[in-house]
Amino acid sequence: MKRILVLLLASMMLFAFVACDDNTPTPAPHEHEFGEWTITKEATCTEEGVKTRTCKGCSETETEAIPAKGHNPDANGKCTACGKMIVSNGADFLKATMNEGEVIISLQDDITIDIAPWPTNDKSVFGTASTTSIVVEGNGHTITFHNTDSDWNAIYTKNEDAVLTIKNATIDNSGYNADGGTWNGHDITFNCNVVLDNVTANNAIAVGMDATIKRSTISDNGGTTSAYMLWIQATCQTVSIEDCTINGKSSITNDNRAIKIADEYIGEPDRKSVTLNVSGTTFSSDSKAAVLVTNTAGATINWGSGNDISGVAADKVNAVWNDSARADAIVKVSGCKVIQEPSA
Ligand SMILES: [Zn+2]
Ligand SMILES: [Zn+2]
Repeated sequence: MKRILVLLLASMMLFAFVACDDNTPTPAPHEHEFGEWTITKEATCTEEGVKTRTCKGCSETETEAIPAKGHNPDANGKCTACGKMIVSNGADFLKATMNEGEVIISLQDDITIDIAPWPTNDKSVFGTASTTSIVVEGNGHTITFHNTDSDWNAIYTKNEDAVLTIKNATIDNSGYNADGGTWNGHDITFNCNVVLDNVTANNAIAVGMDATIKRSTISDNGGTTSAYMLWIQATCQTVSIEDCTINGKSSITNDNRAIKIADEYIGEPDRKSVTLNVSGTTFSSDSKAAVLVTNTAGATINWGSGNDISGVAADKVNAVWNDSARADAIVKVSGCKVIQEPSA
């Protein structure tokens, strides 16, 4: 009997606890009558917002998405809401870079940009002397750099201190000898400071100034001539590679390589050492080491954590080779081993 009483008391207390959970009285059953929508999060050009309304008879709320507004470009292509340059083709891309200061370009489509050999031609030059930064939001689109001329097609910024950043895009090239490999500049050559972030490069790349390449993949399986996936033109710059895949394998030539630091084609006074930082990067190649240094001024290579060279056909142990003809070059490495390139 005592036990039954205790159980009864306990269940009454539980009931009381549940009933008192909320100080507001439970409203009578009713059909919700919602008030006006209020905006709880404004929609932007590219992101949905949220609106909320509350029932007048209870505290029930309802939310609904507000569609993204879309960009609202003015006559010059600049969105009046977010300030980004809205670009859908190569000609507009070049025009968009001609803004001063920091330029943000939002790609709306795949584009092709004409590239010429020398910076004497506006085809090759991005920005003005007062453009400090060009950020290209690729939005998953492809940028094709079209070689309009013979060798040495390259990308320049009018302001040498400017930085070109390409994010979330695929890059490729077309036109003159586009599949001819890195020799003689048949690749995508950045003769400007460049940042590639989350970029898939379907053609080999050369960099002639500072470069940061992160979360990106470089491969060139379509080349008809063997190529280095990344050709660093040694001009005293710093190149950093983080969390990338350097895929130097070709089913066509079976002779693709990974990275080369070289001073070929550079005038004598400009030949300098290079600092190369590599971390979190997976290498594969048909030939040579993960990194081959051929420039006389050598290089300082900081081999960070998380690199994998097990896919490099010629040398799965030593990350860096010093070119067989450049025994006197000063190649300093930390975190990996350097050996003299074996004579063929
Ligand atoms: Zn209600
Ligand atoms: Zn906008």
